Amino acid sequence: MHDVTVHLGRHLRLDDNPLLATAAASQERLLPVFALDPAVRRGVQQEAFLLASLADLQQSLRARGSDLLLLHEAPQPEVRDRYESPMRMIADSDLPFVSSRMPRTYTPFRQQIEAAGMRSTAPVPCPERLPPLPEDVSCPTIVAPAVPLIAAGGEQAGLAHWRHYRDRRLPDSYKQTRNALLGWDASSKLSLWLAWGCLSPRRLASDLFEYEQAHGANEGTYWLWFELLWRDFFALRAEHRDVEGGAIDPDDPRWRAFATARLGHPLIDAGLRELNATGFLGNRLRQIVASYAIRERGWPWAIGAAYFAWQLIDHDPASNVGNWRYIAGQGADPRGGRHFDPEKQREMYDPDDAYTRRWGGA
Ligand SMILES: Cc1cc2nc3c(=O)[nH]c(=O)nc-3n(C[C@H](O)[C@H](O)[C@H](O)COP(=O)(O)OP(=O)(O)OC[C@H]3O[C@@H](n4cnc5c(N)ncnc54)[C@H](O)[C@@H]3O)c2cc1C
Repeated sequence: MHDVTVHLGRHLRLDDNPLLATAAASQERLLPVFALDPAVRRGVQQEAFLLASLADLQQSLRARGSDLLLLHEAPQPEVRDRYESPMRMIADSDLPFVSSRMPRTYTPFRQQIEAAGMRSTAPVPCPERLPPLPEDVSCPTIVAPAVPLIAAGGEQAGLAHWRHYRDRRLPDSYKQTRNALLGWDASSKLSLWLAWGCLSPRRLASDLFEYEQAHGANEGTYWLWFELLWRDFFALRAEHRDVEGGAIDPDDPRWRAFATARLGHPLIDAGLRELNATGFLGNRLRQIVASYAIRERGWPWAIGAAYFAWQLIDHDPASNVGNWRYIAGQGADPRGGRHFDPEKQREMYDPDDAYTRRWGGA
């Protein structure tokens, strides 16, 4: 038994946190830390959500006899993965293939997992008590900035959101509503907490199976799992391939076009206004915006990916780069890229311009 520092990275929760559970079982003293790299630039909402999540975790750790120390430095290379990759729903040991030889596209990836009867790795419970800090270490209280956010950061808020989502039986209608452009309940919004590891995808999946036991499985519950598996797919790809996005350059006119919501189409610009105002954008509009920037404007995907990385509260390097590359036809798309015709999308998803007007256009 000895003292140990544990870097939490994007694992900002007590529940189903194997890093904490293992360290708690084997260490006499434990120092949970998070390296907040001052060189990483984030949009205002992303920064506020992250700090709120850290403050929430600090309170939870204190209640169990521990604490959280913020380091203002870049994470060391040996722990960088924890800062870049939140946990997957299915652990390597539960995959029906060697992870480095995963199928290149999503459908065979999913089919092999389903054929093996695998849906999720089981979550681990949170330890009741955690080892005390090493002697002579004290942790200043983390204070989150008072920035208005679409949802509160942290594990407590994430769990409350998920409970509320289930209690209203929203998983049942998820498949029908998920692409709607307006309405907080149209999709689950779980990405906000998943991206920072405030929620565990294994806990969500396990709760979803309990929900199916209680209320019956249906298209909606299956589709929620299906989308969570997309997240695993991109995470796993990122572990074996490059996830380098573009660099932030506020002086680049293309960056300014994103920042001032002037890409040149009313629906796309409305989407960018929502993104800039809230730090969030639904999946359908992310696809339409990405397709427009790449195909209509002819910009490299990495420019838009860098902008999203800076602005999205739920920025997750693997999902962001994976989706941008998918639309650019450079990644896991068996059809060589996706083109979303903006006018057709507008007719299908915003026929009366309600969304475009809501975000100040048309
Ligand atoms: C260009 C582009 C960039 C994106 N960047 C990110 C990102 O940085 N971080 C991020 O979490 N997601 C990203 N996504 C995926 C997806 O848009 C978001 O996960 C989703 O919109 C989050 O809202 P939700 O939680 O309400 O999703 P829901 O529709 O409720 O889906 C449930 C969960 O499934 C997962 N999921 C759903 N769709 C995808 C997908 N296409 N790829 C990976 N996981 C998915 C997410 O974890 C999500 O929380 C991106 C998609 C595109 C097209």
